[in-house]
This record gives sequence, structure tokens and C-alpha cells, in this order.
Amino acid sequence: MATIYLHCFGCKVNQFELDAIGSELITHGCIQTSDPAEADCIIINTCAVTAKAEGAARRFIGHMVRQHTQALVAVTGCCVQLTMDQLRSWPEYESGRLLLFDNYEKAGLANVLLNTIQNGSKSIPGDNDQASLTAPRIHHHTHRTRALLRIQDGCDNYCSYCVVPHLRGPSVSVPPTEIVTQARSYAAAGYREIVVTGINLGAYGADCTEKTDIAALMGELCALFPDIRFRLSSIEPRQLSTGLLKSMQQSANFMPHLHIPLQSGDNDILARMNRDYTAQWFGQMVADVRRELPHAAIGIDVLVGFPGESDAHFDTTRTLLQQIDCSYLHVFPYSQRPRTPAAGFAEQVPSSIKTKRAQVLRELSAHKRHLFYRRHHNSVRHVLIEKHRQGSMLHGYTDNYIAVELTGDDSLMNRVVPVKLEYTGAERMRAALAR
Ligand code: SF4
Repeated sequence: MATIYLHCFGCKVNQFELDAIGSELITHGCIQTSDPAEADCIIINTCAVTAKAEGAARRFIGHMVRQHTQALVAVTGCCVQLTMDQLRSWPEYESGRLLLFDNYEKAGLANVLLNTIQNGSKSIPGDNDQASLTAPRIHHHTHRTRALLRIQDGCDNYCSYCVVPHLRGPSVSVPPTEIVTQARSYAAAGYREIVVTGINLGAYGADCTEKTDIAALMGELCALFPDIRFRLSSIEPRQLSTGLLKSMQQSANFMPHLHIPLQSGDNDILARMNRDYTAQWFGQMVADVRRELPHAAIGIDVLVGFPGESDAHFDTTRTLLQQIDCSYLHVFPYSQRPRTPAAGFAEQVPSSIKTKRAQVLRELSAHKRHLFYRRHHNSVRHVLIEKHRQGSMLHGYTDNYIAVELTGDDSLMNRVVPVKLEYTGAERMRAALAR
């Protein structure tokens, strides 16, 4: 049977989708390799959230088709969705060695590929309508400690800078029974943590036959699988409901970790981004969360250099972020994306200014992280031991997403253990097993 090589760009949803494609092929007898030179088939899931991500994906596809002429190269994802016409003009597409699958064909990619490998012809994918999204199953597990579980795809929000709704379509939820089946498979394979992912997780359930929501789903998963830690990948601020916070407080295995997009701390910019809250509301919301979950990790996404963002707008954002009690920031320079309203806005910010602003906020993020770590000096938290780092040092994350390292032997791997944390000012806290 064929040997396959998998490569992923982009977000956790992309990684889940590629894992599912790989799992399906391996279940049908394919063998996975870590060397593309050995592959009969190279499968790439791409990203287009920024111009940089799109460029990286296109360069990688070009490299694969030129360097590995022995292999079929099958490409899917947001970059394909956005630039299908251009990719179709490549000679390798003409010759049939480059296979392209848009986001709606992705669910059928494994079957098409198997057919192509066996019969040498690409058939048209069948029932791949995104409106009937089903969970591609991951049966074959790669012994990671943390598993990804995609529960939702698409988004209806149309933030003015974001190309994702144009590429992935409206929000569609995976039925709860399929989510539970996938979680059961992870539990049986011995995973100790599941990261629940989606494009817009808070929209989960609105389109299900029996109405449900993310709070109910997380409550159900935590109750059904008490030995697994559950973590949310991110949640839009307006969708961070009281019910979800309660579920996080009440379920010991629902990790106190929230990753929330702010994007800008200036109300004019927020309005032009089509974000439906004010900076003041956001600041109060985080303060409320902090009161309810004093030890939670709170990460915040922020976008710098949106069109029209002046020094004054940026200072407003920085001041708000200085005041907010969060644990870290994810900082992204704005990227002009086709099909989005913001791409046509006047006053595009020069990239040198975006780079400087991003640097300022990344320094603020490092400061926030150290404050958060220092607050936990001498406290005891539970860590999932994931892997070795440098010699015998083990590494993992606490429930509230503090990176730790500790000395220990292999018997600790993939176990959740209590540790006492020591603040050292470094990127990771030092830890020792607690009695
Ligand atoms: S919420 Fe906004 S930024 Fe997030 S995926 Fe939807 S449109 Fe894009």
C-alpha cells in the first residue's frame, strides 16, 4: 500500500482535519513516513489567515512538487480555497500529479486519494456538503499526550479583517454523539488531555437538531470522561457565558484556561473591525472572570496595525492591556486579505510600524506571563507530564497553562501529578513533585 507524508499549516482545526485524513488512510493500509522523499503521496493542509501563511503554504507546495517527483501531491485547506484558480494553472495540476481539494471537498479527500492510488483516477468527491458536517474520525493515534477534538467549523461573524468566513462558510456543529464517540476513542487510546477546537467555538450547538451550546457540551464531556482534562482552544468574548464559567468552576477536569480575542482596545477600531463590544465592556468582562476564577490562565489575542490605527489608537489598546489582569498575549500584525472589507480601507499602516507595535505588545506579554508565574511561586498545581526536554528534564503544563520543567523518570510520562512550583524568572517554572 502507499506511503504517505503529512504536513500541516495553520490552526488546531487544520491539524485535526489532517490527522483525520491521515488516520483514514492508515486505517486502509497506508504507511506514514516522516520523510517526503519516501512518500508515494504527500498531503498538505494549508492556511490563508495572513499573507505570510499563504505565501509559506504556496512555497512549500512548490517545493514538494518540484523535489519529490515520485509522489502525488494532494493539497487542501484555506490557501487552496482562496487561490484555486492560480494553483490550477500549475503544470503539475495539468499533468494530474497535483491534486487540489477545496475546503468543502476536504471531508472526502481520503476516499478520493485511496481511489486515485488504487485506480489512478481522481473521482469527484461525493457527499461533502459542509452544511452536514460530520466528525471525521481519528482511529489511528500517534501517541501524543494531548488530542485535538474539532467540534465546529465556519463562522458567521464576518469581522472586517477576517477571510475565514469567506473560506470556511457559516458555522456548522458536529453532532454531540459524534463528538462523544471521538472522545471515547481518545480515552481508549490513553490520552489524558483533549483540546476542544473550532473556528468559532462559542457558536457551537445553535444549528444542532436539538439545541445545545458549548457550556452543555463541555459539562457532558467532563462528566463522561472524568480522567481526561478538557481545555478550550479559544472563545469569542461575547460567547463567554455565565453557564460556561460555571461549568469550568464546577468540573474538576475542565481546565481553568481561557483564550479570548480582544483584537483592539480602541472603540473606533473595534467598530470598524465589526467587533460587537467596547473596550470598557471587555475590561470588565475579564475582571469578572478573574474574580470567579482567580487562578485561571487568561490569554488575549490582539491585532496591531489595523487600517487607520494611529499612535493614539495603539496607545489606548496598550493602556487597556496593561490594566487587564491576563496571563499572556498573542499578538498578530494585521494582514490585508482578499475578499475582506478592511483590505479596501484607506490608511493602511506601514509594515515597519506594525512590527514595532507588535514588539511593544510582545514585551508586555512576557511581562504579564512573568507576573502570572510569580503569583504561583510555591503553590501546588497539577501537571500533565508530556515529554522530555534537554536530558532528563520532563516538561508539561499545569491545569492553568503554566509551562513547567522537572526532573523525573519515564514512569511519570502521560500522568497528571501534583507539583510545587518555583518562580525562576525563566520561560518555564521549575517544579518538584508534591507529596
Ligand atoms: S469571529 Fe471574527 S475573527 Fe474569528 S473566525 Fe469569525 S470572522 Fe474571523
